[in-house]
Amino acid sequence: MGSKVCKFGGSSLAQASQFVKVAEIVKADAQRRYIVPSAPGKRSPDDQKITDLLYLCHEHARQGVAFDQLFELISQRYLDIASELGLTLDLQSELDEIKQGIRDTAPSGPDYAASRGEYLNGLIMAAYLGYTFVDAADVVSFDTQGRLDMPDSRALMQQRLAPLEQAVVPGFYGRAVDGTIKTFSRGGSDITGAVVSAGIDAEVYENWTDVSGLLMADPRVIDKPRSIDTITYQELRELAYMGATVLHDEAIFPVREAGIPVNIRNTNEPSHPGTRIVAKPPPGDRPGPITGVAGRKDFTVIAIYKAMMNNQIGFGRRVLSVFEANGISYEHTPSGIDTMSIVVADSAIEGKLDHVLHEIGLECKPDSIETYPDMALVATVGRGMTHTVGVAAKLFAALAKAEVNIRMIDQGSSELNIIVGVQADEFENAMRAAYQAFIT
Ligand code: ASP
Repeated sequence: MGSKVCKFGGSSLAQASQFVKVAEIVKADAQRRYIVPSAPGKRSPDDQKITDLLYLCHEHARQGVAFDQLFELISQRYLDIASELGLTLDLQSELDEIKQGIRDTAPSGPDYAASRGEYLNGLIMAAYLGYTFVDAADVVSFDTQGRLDMPDSRALMQQRLAPLEQAVVPGFYGRAVDGTIKTFSRGGSDITGAVVSAGIDAEVYENWTDVSGLLMADPRVIDKPRSIDTITYQELRELAYMGATVLHDEAIFPVREAGIPVNIRNTNEPSHPGTRIVAKPPPGDRPGPITGVAGRKDFTVIAIYKAMMNNQIGFGRRVLSVFEANGISYEHTPSGIDTMSIVVADSAIEGKLDHVLHEIGLECKPDSIETYPDMALVATVGRGMTHTVGVAAKLFAALAKAEVNIRMIDQGSSELNIIVGVQADEFENAMRAAYQAFIT
């Protein structure tokens, strides 16, 4: 029987009633054999995430300040969950050990403290489901550089996890080369889910969260956008880069390499099929013209003009070498016959703009350089636009109708997306026009 790895996020495990939902989901499908829990998240908007509290405990311990009351808050949440689920688990001795551990590890960093949120949730989840608890420190390993060691983790999982019928592996952490606990970056339980999926050759990686998959646009801009049923990794990368977030960036690689699809699901709406993220479109795939629209503000455009630029060999290289020498990564370089523009994120060029303009002047002797701050980029993404006539026309007609002035256009020859640059104050308007051009 093939197996599914199910990662449940913090909001899916914030309190006992959520554990009940999770258990129903897990028991509804015998293939759901490997469970990766996060730490309990917020129960309401003004609640605290357990991981944040653990980082705070560490900070107190590091400074030699008492953290008993803080730790009490954490303990009480776990004790409440366990008692409401009717579990007879000896959590108190675990909690005492952890409190001492936070003190002992304080000089060496916060990772041990932060990881305990997932560890405790893993113990509770395993007891509640009747699954075997496998400590992530025994199956997820990091190399000497502190990076995930996938070959070693895979070998450990094949040895420790694969023979088990069912298991719970806490998310977010593993073991460093020196035997200490090390965490991934924040939100890293997504990565553990992906690593376990690749390590045991799962059929699918189910990532259970509090939304029914990826939406075709940001709901803060578009009213009730549709959800995406299938998206390729490449499309996801384009949309994620532009600000659409659902999975931790680093979670993509282990499953992508292993060709394992990811299914984003909603713990609070389990009947919804969610979004499938796949390496290749499924056979018979009939995508709509677009998969999604996403965008970001805070870009600056540097426009360089020089007569006969097209005849000057090496002009573009000299311009870009200024960016390289100053350690600035740029986003796009749309160009005309005698013009070249560099689109760069404000965060990348902050504090360096004047210097860069000066150096471009010295290196390239342009006739003029102008900068346009407050630019926004809107990406219309979709594998369905490849070899489809009229997608760009439709998009531009919609933007014209909405009276959005397009300042820049960029379409890669992969035809996976069309990016337009607009003035920041036209951003929302442009996003709406792009979405409504294709989705009615
Ligand atoms: N609990 C960790 C965090 O808050 C990891 C995770 O939830 O994925 O960042």
